[in-house]
Amino acid sequence: MDKEEFRKYAHQLVDWMADYLEEKENYRVTPTTKPREIFKQLPSEAPEDSESFEAIFQDFKEIILPGMTHWQHPSFFAYFPANNSEPSILAEMLMSTLGAQCMSWLTSPAATELEERVCDWLRGAKGIDPSWKGVIHDTASTATLSAILSARERKSTWLINEEGFGGKENFRIYSSEHVHSSIDKAVRIAGIGVKNLVRIPVDENFAMIPSLLEEAIQKDLEKGFTPLCVVSALGTTSSTAIDPIGEITKITKKYGLWHHIDAAYAGTALLLPEFQSLIEGHEDADSYVFNPHKWMFTNFDCTVLFLKNPQDLIKTFSLTPEYLRTQLDREVNNYRDWGIQLGRRFRALKLWFVIRSYGLKGIRQKLRYHIQLAQKAKYWIESELGLEILAPVPFNTICFRHHDPKHTLEEENTFNEKWMNALNATGKVFFTHTKLEGKYVIRWVIGQTDVEEKHIQAAWVLLMETRKKLLQED
Ligand SMILES: *Cc1c(COP(=O)(O)O)cnc(C)c1O
Repeated sequence: MDKEEFRKYAHQLVDWMADYLEEKENYRVTPTTKPREIFKQLPSEAPEDSESFEAIFQDFKEIILPGMTHWQHPSFFAYFPANNSEPSILAEMLMSTLGAQCMSWLTSPAATELEERVCDWLRGAKGIDPSWKGVIHDTASTATLSAILSARERKSTWLINEEGFGGKENFRIYSSEHVHSSIDKAVRIAGIGVKNLVRIPVDENFAMIPSLLEEAIQKDLEKGFTPLCVVSALGTTSSTAIDPIGEITKITKKYGLWHHIDAAYAGTALLLPEFQSLIEGHEDADSYVFNPHKWMFTNFDCTVLFLKNPQDLIKTFSLTPEYLRTQLDREVNNYRDWGIQLGRRFRALKLWFVIRSYGLKGIRQKLRYHIQLAQKAKYWIESELGLEILAPVPFNTICFRHHDPKHTLEEENTFNEKWMNALNATGKVFFTHTKLEGKYVIRWVIGQTDVEEKHIQAAWVLLMETRKKLLQED
């Protein structure tokens, strides 16, 4: 493709992109694709000869697009969203055009310094302690693993990095029963072993009970274990439950443990001053992660990890072979030392575009609107006979189910599963589920960038119609 062709096709694509964003809700949210259906339409060998852009783009529209789940559909209520927005998409276009690999200051000074600035902006806007510093990672999974590795190294005075891990240290990591699976994964990869992940019971709101955390730590100390780290959740994945951050921090401080706060989804809500009390007392915690790529209109991937003492992280990961040394290493940040990967994308650009384009006010307005919509939907569900909500709704995630006391738990679970599958089969909405105390519940997450009241109203009508039909069949 020559430069003239590039110009021509880029214009065409931008038109297609703008059309897609305008018409995205005309698609089914989820495709009807059967396993292997897409694979079989693709040739078994890579082409030897050049193909025209027209042919490639045609296949994109005919083969790929029908097999896509439309995450930007306003009636995508599943998992947590992976929002994008127009300014974020534009920044991605520039990023891929510059094609910079931003591993160190020298490999793109502007990328490093912009990253420092936007992280500081977010820290300030979220009410995180001004002495903390931020770094952008790809995902919360990676950021949490980095935090756990740093905790391990700090505790072992950086000896495990040197001598290897005998496992004799008997490290223990604590989290609530509802912690995200990425913690299990990090504990495995860090060599600590999942059997040393101690799951602390939760209260009726699915939040960790701090007194039981302290008890578990004391018991472990008596048994000769080495308590290492607590991973708390500000917004669990099941029900957005909120662990008591301040109380947990007091305990981690008392026993010298690392406290990592996983706010992957709900952390965005801290941009609203009315939510900032949730992290009161975090000043003595160690790290905090949140994903602008979930609810902050910044397309996947973009995670921000904040640290009280970045030196713990840098000492864990920095390793400078001769060919990467520069004269400026003492004066500048080399973000390659702040995590696992060497090569880094220029993700700060997306955040910069999004924050400036919306303004903090614009972002807050959207977040408040989403939370308001969720309160409305919550009210509809509460007012409907035979429906129940099984967890508090502090943000915009509602866990609800159809409930009929005449039925056994198993029958109820089967009914709710059937109900959700019937809803999703319409292609008009997409819900996912979780289990709370063994009960199958549908999760309704109202946080897509362009979701409006009409979308949740239509979803509500569909919910009620589908339930009625299933009840008549029963
Ligand atoms: C989504 C989520 C994660 C994982 O995020 P990734 O960026 O996909 O790794 C971790 N913790 C919580 C609470 C989450 O909601």
